[in-house]
Amino acid sequence: MTILVIAEHTNAALAPATLNTVAAAAKIGGDIHVLVAGSACGAAADAAGKIAGVAKVLVADNAAFAHQLPENVAPLVAELGKGYSHILAAATSNGKNILPRVAAALDVDQISEIIAVESADTFKRPIYAGNAIATVQSSAAVKVITVRATGFDPVAAEGGSAAVEAVGGAADAGKSAFVGEELAKSDRPELTAAKIVVSGGRGMQNGDNFKHLYALADKLGAAVGASRAAVDAGFVPNDMQVGQTGKIVAPQLYIAVGISGAIQHLAGMKDSKVIVAINKDEEAPIFQVADYGLVADLFEAVPELEKLV
Ligand SMILES: Cc1cc2nc3c(=O)[nH]c(=O)nc-3n(C[C@H](O)[C@H](O)[C@H](O)COP(=O)(O)OP(=O)(O)OC[C@H]3O[C@@H](n4cnc5c(N)ncnc54)[C@H](O)[C@@H]3O)c2cc1C
Repeated sequence: MTILVIAEHTNAALAPATLNTVAAAAKIGGDIHVLVAGSACGAAADAAGKIAGVAKVLVADNAAFAHQLPENVAPLVAELGKGYSHILAAATSNGKNILPRVAAALDVDQISEIIAVESADTFKRPIYAGNAIATVQSSAAVKVITVRATGFDPVAAEGGSAAVEAVGGAADAGKSAFVGEELAKSDRPELTAAKIVVSGGRGMQNGDNFKHLYALADKLGAAVGASRAAVDAGFVPNDMQVGQTGKIVAPQLYIAVGISGAIQHLAGMKDSKVIVAINKDEEAPIFQVADYGLVADLFEAVPELEKLV
């Protein structure tokens, strides 16, 4: 059994989710190969070679893969993937953009967002926004799988010494072109990789009031997230949304401020190790999942907390 993991990377560096995806591959067992498809992606390939447990790194270095457009990367993965028992990618926007196309090209079902590996053909995945966990068994010749990063502790980024091999194959499919990107810049940690997340909901009342959360987060070294209600109201940009239709986080500490705890929000954060809720309504459902709850007005509690940190 040989498993192909599609690296998530910026050409210059690997994204942390790659380490969680390799961890899922290690649970399946067998040799692990990592594909780095990019342009001038030598640094990312070097980093992939150092991941503990990786036997081989395949590098497809081609201008057509510079921005990892799925129209270009998917045919490459489908071509290379034929010889593998499993193809894994993180269930990020990128992975979710590429792997369904690979599954279709290989004429197999995709197994989406696994959170546990039972055996080489049986996996657990959340359904109904995480309210039930399905155990699925696949008889596909090549199992095409996206991995929910929060379900697997990352493997060590150092310690491996994999062979690096250049691969060619499909390149520019001519179906799409990269026009530009606007990346949100922040000095705070990335939401899905942060050890501490402070999130605000509709109770924040407006975007300006998020300054209370930023001040607290900066003292804690935390990322700042939000509920969909806060995003829909225009308080903060949508890349801060946590939940079923936002980002899935599982930090050591999640502080929910002025968030009621709708199931769609819980779907994105209930695997956090310790959950703290600050809400003025003692009946708010968030208190049912909170390890520590503070029934208080957030405009008094958050500045007080910030002073104490
Ligand atoms: C298909 C679908 C997908 C969805 N996906 C998501 C998702 O990904 N993420 C998500 O978050 N939601 C999602 N939602 C929306 C979800 O159902 C809720 O509407 C949303 O999470 C509510 O956000 P909220 O808790 O901020 O707002 P509310 O439910 O309005 O809660 C605000 C809370 O703030 C408290 N509050 C108000 N003022 C104060 C104060 N001064 N001090 C302390 N507490 C105060 C209130 O007591 C209340 O509990 C989705 C919904 C659907 C239908």
